[in-house]
Amino acid sequence: MPLILAIESSCDDSSVALLQGNRLIGMKQSGQKEHTRFGGVVPELASRAHQECLSLMLNDLMRDTSTSWFDIQVIAYTRGPGLMGALMVGAALAKGLALSLDVPLIGVNHLHGHLVSHFVEQEPDEGIFPMLSLTVSGGHTHLVWLDSWLEGRILCETLDDAAGETFDKCAKMLGLPYPGGPVLDRLASQGNPGAHTWPMPQLGNASYSFSGLKTSVLYYLAKHQPNLSDCAESSLHDLCASIQANVVEALMKPVKHYARQMKPRSLGLAGGVAANSLLRSRMLALGEQLGCAVHIPPLSWCTDNAAMIAASARILLEQGVIHLEALGEKPLPRWPLMDYFRDLSSLNLSQKSGS
Ligand code: ADP
Ligand code: MG
Repeated sequence: MPLILAIESSCDDSSVALLQGNRLIGMKQSGQKEHTRFGGVVPELASRAHQECLSLMLNDLMRDTSTSWFDIQVIAYTRGPGLMGALMVGAALAKGLALSLDVPLIGVNHLHGHLVSHFVEQEPDEGIFPMLSLTVSGGHTHLVWLDSWLEGRILCETLDDAAGETFDKCAKMLGLPYPGGPVLDRLASQGNPGAHTWPMPQLGNASYSFSGLKTSVLYYLAKHQPNLSDCAESSLHDLCASIQANVVEALMKPVKHYARQMKPRSLGLAGGVAANSLLRSRMLALGEQLGCAVHIPPLSWCTDNAAMIAASARILLEQGVIHLEALGEKPLPRWPLMDYFRDLSSLNLSQKSGS
């Protein structure tokens, strides 16, 4: 298998990785601290931070893994979806490298990267399909039915906020630092999840919605805890535990429904929120109950990273379905997974028929 250099810059994590077959030769990853004082990602700052650190990270990666530039055979980069400015920085670096090293360039869909993130260091095994996979991050929340690496459909997605965004916004209201998801998770472990009952949207199994929870937390705090600094530690823990329980229950409801109805061979969980301890344990418990394997990536491949981008490119290469990019192609800030699957399927057909 060719040595792939991958670049990820879709949002607020800069990352570069080298992958050959299922051997991750090295990865560098850096979450941007610039956004902390704003309580959310500031797109212009994200682009500047990628600009500052990506080339340095790449140099470090090459040095630390003793890799020569001339060993690189393919460049993969996140073409979308994501923040336009941030994507452009990664795209410019990827195109410059592909041009100067005279190697093929593959534009990867970031969401496909999340879907395959558990398989960075594994032989892609077709026995896992069909797989029911939940991708939950700061910008995305969707439940996907995967028939193969290249075919799938979305069964449930959010109408408003993403799960990670919900954790971050609720945490912000509780006075916790950004990104709030991991802090809320930690504090929740000491609280009582039944201490508060938050609204649970009754939307069936085709949509998620988290804006009601956010508003309820806002009104609750305005009424009962107008001065957060007076809030007892145990109340803060209870608030975190009950918010986390609500989000995880809402996420799991359609997963349980489709898992029972459609009987997948395996379950998957990916994206930054896949680091959530309660969500991980609920998913594992469901797998055990239904007797199917559960694929959850290690923590370093949950948050945006270049290893999963390399893994996605590797799978495309192995399946023989690749669209080698022309250097003039633009990043795609909006690139729905369904459009990507459709494009892959028509490429697959035309490559199989030899046209
Ligand atoms: P994005 O593409 O939006 O940057 P990432 O895949 O990098 O998303 O994930 C970041 C999101 O994951 C943030 O919203 C963060 O709060 C959330 N997150 C990370 N760890 C946890 C956790 N343990 N519990 C809940 N949310 C988490
Ligand atoms: Mg991120």
